[in-house]
Amino acid sequence: MRLIIVGGVAGGATAATRARRLSEDADIVLFERGFYVSYANCGLPYYIGGEIEKRDDLFIASPERLRDRYRIDVRTSQEIVEIERNKKEVKVKDHATGEEFRERYDKLILSPGARPTKPPLQGVDSNKVFTLRDLPDSDSIKNYLDRNRVDSAVVVGGGSIGLELVENLSRQGIAVTVIEKEDQVMPALDFEMAALLHRHLRDQNVRLYLGDGVESFHEKNGRLMVSTETGIDIETDMALLAIGVWPEKELAEKAGLTIGERGGIVVDEMLRTSDPDIYAIGDAIEVKDLVSGENRLLALAGPANRQGRAAADSIMGRESVFEGVWGTSITKVFNMVAASTGDKEESLKYIGKPYLASFTHSYHHASYYPGAKRMAIKLIFGPDRGEILGAQIVGEEGVDKRIDVLATALKAGMTVYDLEELELAYAPQFGSAKDPVNIAGFVASNILKGDVHVVHWNEVGALNREENILLDVRTAEEIKQTGTIMDAVHIHVDELRDRLGELDRDKTYIAYCTVSLRGYIAYRILVQHGFRAKILSGGMETWSPPWEDMAEREQSTKSSKRPQKK
Ligand SMILES: Cc1cc2nc3c(=O)[nH]c(=O)nc-3n(C[C@H](O)[C@H](O)[C@H](O)COP(=O)(O)OP(=O)(O)OC[C@H]3O[C@@H](n4cnc5c(N)ncnc54)[C@H](O)[C@@H]3O)c2cc1C
Repeated sequence: MRLIIVGGVAGGATAATRARRLSEDADIVLFERGFYVSYANCGLPYYIGGEIEKRDDLFIASPERLRDRYRIDVRTSQEIVEIERNKKEVKVKDHATGEEFRERYDKLILSPGARPTKPPLQGVDSNKVFTLRDLPDSDSIKNYLDRNRVDSAVVVGGGSIGLELVENLSRQGIAVTVIEKEDQVMPALDFEMAALLHRHLRDQNVRLYLGDGVESFHEKNGRLMVSTETGIDIETDMALLAIGVWPEKELAEKAGLTIGERGGIVVDEMLRTSDPDIYAIGDAIEVKDLVSGENRLLALAGPANRQGRAAADSIMGRESVFEGVWGTSITKVFNMVAASTGDKEESLKYIGKPYLASFTHSYHHASYYPGAKRMAIKLIFGPDRGEILGAQIVGEEGVDKRIDVLATALKAGMTVYDLEELELAYAPQFGSAKDPVNIAGFVASNILKGDVHVVHWNEVGALNREENILLDVRTAEEIKQTGTIMDAVHIHVDELRDRLGELDRDKTYIAYCTVSLRGYIAYRILVQHGFRAKILSGGMETWSPPWEDMAEREQSTKSSKRPQKK
């Protein structure tokens, strides 16, 4: 068996080592166009920021280790430029010598990854504009930072790589501006969850231009001018483009393999392309989204590694399938962490799949134990059975553990009722007797069973205020500190029973507090006394950030526009 693997980083290196563990006899050749194999590209932003101090720490396995321990024939600086399927050969270009030659294969695995999107904008090739995909890219960025005085930077794109760069540049005292075409950062989150990050980024003195794209770059007196589509000019020292990645599908396409509608290589459950002797894995392929059933692209290291293992298994005769993805991901943004699994509300709306949603805000460990931090959880679930469809969490601490519990629940096909019953480890330092995941399950189950009726933050604006009364049940002091929703009536929850006579039985009362726990108590009092009531899901903690964000955006866009020509 001669197995040739194209691409020597996440998916490729995993496939190679797994194949060797399964077969001592196979002839395994790993081709990598670049100079390095098996390194952690996920660590690159932290190497740029200095958190990872030693460049060598980024290497997971050296070519020597792959040769000595796994007897893998590693060929760096050698690119596969063509696949001749009928002869089962690949054409290789050696970038060190300029030579071209052919190699025979029995099975071929393609793991060529995805390259950063670089649109043909004016000035995009300036040496002050960077992208980040691999180690040489991070060397270029680091060299530029070391050799130049960089006081400010523009990061184009507010996805996870963009935001990791924002943090790592800010940490070096650089004033960072983010330009993002969508009206929010972190596309895996719904807007109101991303708004929590917007607030945090602004608190960290990051300037955000949302809903705006870069139109051009040009250099002026040694500095870089970034101009946006809405007419904002930003003078800066450097720019980093992090606007997404695009599958490296050209080699496969040229070989006549099927490319899907989303632009990735099409594979079956065994990761075989349209040619059964050629497998493809990683960022270059289309994967099935297990919530929607639709094909999608997903550039994440976890799936790439699992696919590498599954492809090697199949080739070595084991029954191994890769069913699809839930897109579980996590990103640190300064002191906050944003994570998600499954589908977001916007995507479900787009494909017309019915869902319900709940918002909860719970402490990451017992509130009485020092250092408790609140996290916001959005749970999305089926309207009939309550099966989990997706979850998003934004918070400071304990987000990683909760998203992994929810990702596991999603894989297990659990419902919100199962979340109520999960028995999770508790001592005051680690969680609560009612863990945030349990609480998300309680609230979602209440909604599903009809024990509580909710109004979401984005439905408040459309409420008929003649028929619906917003009822803030917090203390007067709290309202003085944070304000409340316009035209809301205020009755503290502890006074509610005594003041029911002030309420109108022909109206519906929408009760809320900071997180809608007291709002829920008020709701129970109201309905048990025969009033019509609902709660504002997630309370002020869910309602405020998106509204605050929209107001902030309007203000910052107005004050930054270049003057219009007469
Ligand atoms: C800065 C950064 C941070 C990231 N952070 C995270 C994170 O925190 N979590 C996460 O899950 N994911 C993260 N990712 C994504 C993750 O790194 C990728 O999903 C993963 O590396 C994909 O693996 P792959 O094998 O498909 O491609 P890659 O790891 O990109 O490897 C592809 C390799 O193939 C080589 N190649 C391409 N064509 C050829 C050819 N014709 N011949 C020979 N060689 C070829 C390329 O040179 C490349 O080295 C990050 C990515 C980047 C760039």
